[in-house]
Amino acid sequence: MPATTAVPPPTAAPLPAGIAPITGEEARRLIHHAAGAELEALLARARAVREAVHGREVALCGIVNAKSGHCPEDCGFCSQSAHFPEAGAPAFPLLSARAIADQARTAERAGAREFSIVTSGTRVSREEELATLEEAVGLIRAETGVEPCASLGLLRPPELARLRRAGLMHYHHNLETARSFFPKVCSTHGYDEQLETIRAARDLGYQVCSGGILGMGETPEQRVELAETIRELGVHCVPVNFLNPRPGTPMAGVKAITPGECLAALAVFRLMMPAAHIFVMGGREVNLGELQHRIFDAGADGTMVGNYLTSAGGTPEQVVGMVRGQGLELRPPSTGRWSFTGAAAPETGWNERAVEAPRPARGLPVVG
Ligand code: SF4
Repeated sequence: MPATTAVPPPTAAPLPAGIAPITGEEARRLIHHAAGAELEALLARARAVREAVHGREVALCGIVNAKSGHCPEDCGFCSQSAHFPEAGAPAFPLLSARAIADQARTAERAGAREFSIVTSGTRVSREEELATLEEAVGLIRAETGVEPCASLGLLRPPELARLRRAGLMHYHHNLETARSFFPKVCSTHGYDEQLETIRAARDLGYQVCSGGILGMGETPEQRVELAETIRELGVHCVPVNFLNPRPGTPMAGVKAITPGECLAALAVFRLMMPAAHIFVMGGREVNLGELQHRIFDAGADGTMVGNYLTSAGGTPEQVVGMVRGQGLELRPPSTGRWSFTGAAAPETGWNERAVEAPRPARGLPVVG
């Protein structure tokens, strides 16, 4: 079990010659290049940056919904909020350490490099829950090669330090959207509270993962505003989600973001943050449909494998096949151990609480 103490945050490797982040001004212009030849030129540029900085490797991330529902926060996209009981998300207390570690092992066999323990609620702070999470992280480090991550809400430095000492490598907290749009998304906590958690995790030596959800009604310029904030925070990994409107939430009827807008935003994120790992997470299937493979053209070097928190994703075979179909390979974990054999194992009992069948893609495709 690696005992870790506070260490300086990881520093990004120098960028290859000729690669430099674009300015916010250029990003605000390019993000409107969401169709036709302009989009293709933008994708070609983003792809070239991805290949120059990150090579031909792509990382897969798996998650477990380790504690679901009954959340006192009111994030308008989230079916787990107690404010939106009609959304009908599953509700259950924190899984056991054994159950969490078993799901990490299943994710590893499906090709996951990183595995995140995700809980609902403002933050995890109860002693018995923290002890369970410490034990879970210890089991994952001892029994698997995946890099453990956790998304436990607005954690504070003492709890973050405790889990870091237990061997947790990554901490995830999404900003969700731009500061200027956040009041339309959530009223029960503030943007600055989120920044405090992210900065605290970074200062404790975590590889910090922070991104957001696109397509909640924000403008393209607000997508750039979000990326500017993330860039200033110096995060290691940027998960980009596209809204999959959940029935029963205030965002159930939000107009779909087009596939072209999704790809243009991704490409702009890549050009703004060449060194960051950019993952496409939730909403890939419903918003991109048969264009999912183009996330790699748009500069993504990671994506999700397995189910989402409360909805089903594609099978591991489909995801690994999509990566290989683009001439890319899976990036192994930094732990030096990995039970992934090269062929994605069938998903059995992994995040089985995601009960809904995949929904058809909406309004596709309009690229080209
Ligand atoms: S804090 Fe997390 S679980 Fe709670 S409503 Fe917001 S997104 Fe959902």
